[in-house]
Amino acid sequence: ASMLLTLNQECSLVKQNYRCAGCSSPIGLIYGPARVCNFSGGLYCSDCHTDADEVIIPARVFLNGDYSKRKVCRAVRQFFQDIEVDPALDAIQFDRNIYSYQREFAALLDVRTQLQHLSAFLLTCRTPENAGEEFRKRTYGKEYLYIQQHVYSLVDLPLIQSGQLHQQLTKLFQYGKLHVSGCGLCSMKGFLCEACRSDAVIFPFDLDSTFRCPICGAVFHSECMDRFKPCPRCERWKSREKNQVEQTEQSDQEI
Ligand SMILES: [Zn+2]
Ligand SMILES: [Zn+2]
Ligand SMILES: [Zn+2]
Ligand SMILES: [Zn+2]
Repeated sequence: ASMLLTLNQECSLVKQNYRCAGCSSPIGLIYGPARVCNFSGGLYCSDCHTDADEVIIPARVFLNGDYSKRKVCRAVRQFFQDIEVDPALDAIQFDRNIYSYQREFAALLDVRTQLQHLSAFLLTCRTPENAGEEFRKRTYGKEYLYIQQHVYSLVDLPLIQSGQLHQQLTKLFQYGKLHVSGCGLCSMKGFLCEACRSDAVIFPFDLDSTFRCPICGAVFHSECMDRFKPCPRCERWKSREKNQVEQTEQSDQEI
């Protein structure tokens, strides 16, 4: 899959010794024009490159937001077909800063993070409505969309461009959220904000209105807590640890 990451430079006939990069038969000169594969960068004969096969080049999408289809050799077309549904494209492997300048990907990361939190509720729900089963069915074969937030497959690329992927995931999120907020079992797995001690159940998938402690995972209203305030649950653990240390020190002295 690492070969998917790079943009390859176009090769030259001289470098290829006037031979096809696929089958090594002579190309160029009297043998007819050589055809460029826009993925491998190599030059090919008309058997190995039909001039009819086109694909979206992943590196161009992730690096430049360029979704145009480009001509490729037969072998590359086949390779792309073989792996088209595999979660083979890791957005941050292409560019760690992708979310700061490609808005589509930033929006997708948001909804996928929400789905990840939501899936923890749905997949463990055991009510007759069986929301977990429904969620599994709707994401069948595409589980990576809520498990590995940065990963995409080749078939996702046109759906990213058209906005359809974001739409589908948003719908799925809305479906799941509706279930969780109306389900007695799921609600019990929600959180109570320890900062304001209100009785309203809150959920970590409500990214806009909640804050999740990165250390202990406790969930608060975003207006009650942020990363600059001390988390009450973490503080409690700290003081408990301190008490234990003091107690053992005391008993050491007694001996
Ligand atoms: Zn050839
Ligand atoms: Zn439920
Ligand atoms: Zn609160
Ligand atoms: Zn905490």
